[in-house]
Amino acid sequence: MRVIVIGGVAGGMSTATRLRRLSENAEITVLERSGHVSYANCGLPYHVGGVIEQRSDLLLQTPQSLHDRFALDVRVHHEVLAIHRARHVVTVRNLETGDDLELPYDHLVLATGARAVRPPIPGIERALSLRDVEDTDALVAAASGARTAVVIGGGFIGVEVAENLVHLGLDVAVVEAADQVMAPIDPEMATPVHDRMRAHGVDLRLGSAVAAIGPHEVTLATGDTLYADLVVAAIGVRPETTLAEQAGLAIGERGGILVDDQLRTSDPDILAVGDAVEKTDAVDGTAALIPLANTANLQGRRAADVIAGHAARNRPVLGTAIVGVFGLQVASTGWSEKRLRAAGREVRAIHTHPASHATYYPGADTIALKLLVDPVTDEILGAQGVGASGVDKRIDVIATAMAGRLPASALADLELAYAPAFSSAKDPVNMLGHIAENLRTGTSRSIQWHEVWDAVAAGAAIVDVREASERAGGRVIDGSVHIPVNQLRDRLAEIPDGPVIVHCAVGVRGHTAARILTQHGRDVRNLDGGYRTWIAGTRAQRMHDSHSRAGVPERSTSDRTR
Ligand code: FAD
Repeated sequence: MRVIVIGGVAGGMSTATRLRRLSENAEITVLERSGHVSYANCGLPYHVGGVIEQRSDLLLQTPQSLHDRFALDVRVHHEVLAIHRARHVVTVRNLETGDDLELPYDHLVLATGARAVRPPIPGIERALSLRDVEDTDALVAAASGARTAVVIGGGFIGVEVAENLVHLGLDVAVVEAADQVMAPIDPEMATPVHDRMRAHGVDLRLGSAVAAIGPHEVTLATGDTLYADLVVAAIGVRPETTLAEQAGLAIGERGGILVDDQLRTSDPDILAVGDAVEKTDAVDGTAALIPLANTANLQGRRAADVIAGHAARNRPVLGTAIVGVFGLQVASTGWSEKRLRAAGREVRAIHTHPASHATYYPGADTIALKLLVDPVTDEILGAQGVGASGVDKRIDVIATAMAGRLPASALADLELAYAPAFSSAKDPVNMLGHIAENLRTGTSRSIQWHEVWDAVAAGAAIVDVREASERAGGRVIDGSVHIPVNQLRDRLAEIPDGPVIVHCAVGVRGHTAARILTQHGRDVRNLDGGYRTWIAGTRAQRMHDSHSRAGVPERSTSDRTR
């Protein structure tokens, strides 16, 4: 059995090594056009910033080590130019010698990854991208003499590159066309991420478009000009489908290689994995492009299983992801609220702000967690988390629950590892389950931050049940009646007639207050996530409104504009 794998990094190398473990007899050749295989592309930004000091630490394997361990024929600087399906042959160019040769296959695996999007902005040639080790070398060299940098794009790679350039001491601006960085999370969850980036000196230009890139500067559509010794474009990626298209393989509606649930393309002798292929979205079953390393590696393993004749299924994907932003963990799985609403889905949102572990044990951080639930079926549709620690495991637990099709209320009963240094006896994931259960059974009702003013206009009164000290410095919702939760039973008469919105700082005391008032016959809703979620959402909304009104981005306090 002759197997050729095109692309020797995440998906491709997972296929090749797994296949060797399954079959000692297969002839396995890996063709990679760059100079490296099996490198840590997820670590590249951290080498730029010097966090991963040694370049060699990024290079996990070499053709020789892969030959020695797995008997693989790995050829770097070898670019596949064409697939001749009828003859079961690929044409390969040795980029060092310029020689072309043909190699036959029985099974071919396309693991060609993705390529960076390069929008047609005047001067874009000067912008660097970060995809591979060669790009990293170029960025390290460019950063060494630079004092200012503009990163175009506030997605995962953009924020990682920005953080690492700040780490190197550069004056960094991030220009993002949307109103928020990190598109997979909702606006109110992104607010603390923006604050963190600005607190570390990043000149964050949200709702901003780049009009032109000059020799020393980047000009925005507003006319603002940002100094830029270095420009990095991190606008997104598109599946690398050139070979597949030329070979006449079916391409899906989202632009990725179409594969079935065994990762076979429209030619059953050719499989495809990773960033190059369209996945099936686990939430709605539609086609999705999810360029993530975990998916690429899992699919690589499954492709090897299929070639080896094992029963294997390519699972739908949730898009579970995490990124570090100046000490904050920002993670998500499944869909966001904005995406669900845009798709016309009914959704119940739950916000909490628990401690990462027991507050009496040193080092606890407050984290923001959000769960999205189908209000009819109780299905978990997505989750997001932002915080200094403990976000990763909560999102991973929820992603696991989603994969196992647990309903939201079942999170209440999960037995999760606990000791004070690591969690609370009721883990934040359990708390999300408690809230989901209360909402599902009607034990409590909630109102979202963006629904408050409509409810007030319809006659609702807002009751703030926090302590007086928590309202200091103007931290109040306008028009709220202040009755601390401990005094509520004695001051019921002070609450105006009609529907009531209760709120506290994060929603916990508000829940108790709501239960007291409900049992006194009042029509009550608890402000979900409390004042903390309300203010984060209100700030995000204000920024969105100012962009929509004037087309003007929110201004940062930095003086990098000239
Ligand atoms: P790749 O790993 O990109 O490999 C494709 C390979 O195919 C390339 O090396 C390319 O040279 C080769 N190739 C293409 N065409 C040909 C041809 N014609 N002939 C020969 N070779 C060819 N994901 C996460 O989940 N977490 C992270 O933290 C994370 N961080 C990232 C940081 C950076 C800077 C980058 C660039 C990506 C990051 N990703 C992360 C995404 C992750 O790296 C990709 O999803 C994953 O590598 C995709 O694997 P793949 O095998 O599909 O493609």
